[in-house]
Amino acid sequence: MSETACRFCGASVEGVFADLGTSPLANSFLAPERVNAMEPFYPLRALVCGECFLVQLEQFETPEAIFSEYAYFSSYSSSWLEHSRSYAEEMIERLQLGGDSHVVEIASNDGYLLQFFHERQIPVLGIEPAANVAKVALQKGIPTLVEFFGVQTASSLAEASAADLLLGNNVLAHVPDLNDFVAGMRILLKPGGVITMEFPHLMRLIEENQWDTIYHEHFSYFSFLTVSRVFAAHGLRLFDVQELPTHGGSLRIFACHAPDAEKPETDAARELRKREREAGYESLETYLGYGRRVEADKRQILGFLIGLKQQGLSVVGYGAPAKGNTLLNYCGVRQDFVDYTCDLNPHKQGCFLPGSHIPIRSPEAIREDRPDVVLIMPWNLKDEIVEQLSFIRQWGGRFAARTPELALLP
Ligand SMILES: [Zn+2]
Repeated sequence: MSETACRFCGASVEGVFADLGTSPLANSFLAPERVNAMEPFYPLRALVCGECFLVQLEQFETPEAIFSEYAYFSSYSSSWLEHSRSYAEEMIERLQLGGDSHVVEIASNDGYLLQFFHERQIPVLGIEPAANVAKVALQKGIPTLVEFFGVQTASSLAEASAADLLLGNNVLAHVPDLNDFVAGMRILLKPGGVITMEFPHLMRLIEENQWDTIYHEHFSYFSFLTVSRVFAAHGLRLFDVQELPTHGGSLRIFACHAPDAEKPETDAARELRKREREAGYESLETYLGYGRRVEADKRQILGFLIGLKQQGLSVVGYGAPAKGNTLLNYCGVRQDFVDYTCDLNPHKQGCFLPGSHIPIRSPEAIREDRPDVVLIMPWNLKDEIVEQLSFIRQWGGRFAARTPELALLP
């Protein structure tokens, strides 16, 4: 039991959804000179509100500390770039965007998505709090404002900045002040404009045991029913939704000003609300039983890794995503099980994973060392990685990944 106010509705939140112990911030990779220094650990415990059913983390750090040195550059993932390109094409067509439209992206990262509008001569604006990533966007010619988004930022922008399309991918879940953020979106949206947001779907997290997607930077976990309530409280209406395979199962929601009569609710939106209601997403019991499944999963993961080590097999990791850090720290896995992990991102190579202190090397290390088992950390990119590393089969190497049980892949 705990006592904290709901991030959205303010009710006292007492239900524990999943308790993952204590963990450092998932993106706080350690440079070699920091590896023996003190490292802050925070409780990693997701709670659920009994009033609005928002699954949420308590906040222990300021957003500045979490996001200002963000090491994630979206353009390093080829499948994510492809996802973004097809989104841009779909939206240009659907909303008939052109030279006098305005597209605004919140958390625009290195301009990975806005570049596809920009190259079609559609005016864009990015809003990105991490100065190091925003700089890369500016170098590509994408106008970018280095700020956190909320009512204040939205109000300070001129009328000319109002958006026909206002979008944000994997940002809504990361916003500490959810109400201020959604209220700001309403201010920045033109009458008749459309908001789209993508975030992991709570229903997938529960049904497929994706508890490793819980980490400190990820404050809120939404069902479609709950996110509809949040938007409605700020005069915005969700009229459409798409279920996407990204990040293990995401929602792309479509919102408009509540009185906008031109945008009737789609069958997809009606159907998903009904499906979530029938699956119990407006009942507290659905959420409170989840912790047992997380504990059982930890025993399965450790049992699997112990089995590999008892056979004398060498195990290395691939990837250094936030979800890998949640899993390793919750399960207490260090170099006693995993010799090192590899990542394509040169900013991470040479550093150590937070908490577990597993070293991060270049993927070339796998070719040289010929490990018996490669543990794929970003299970959502499993197929892509198996293809990239298919050469490990030359020496009888095997892949392991959560599917959702941790197992060797065929
Ligand atoms: Zn609530």
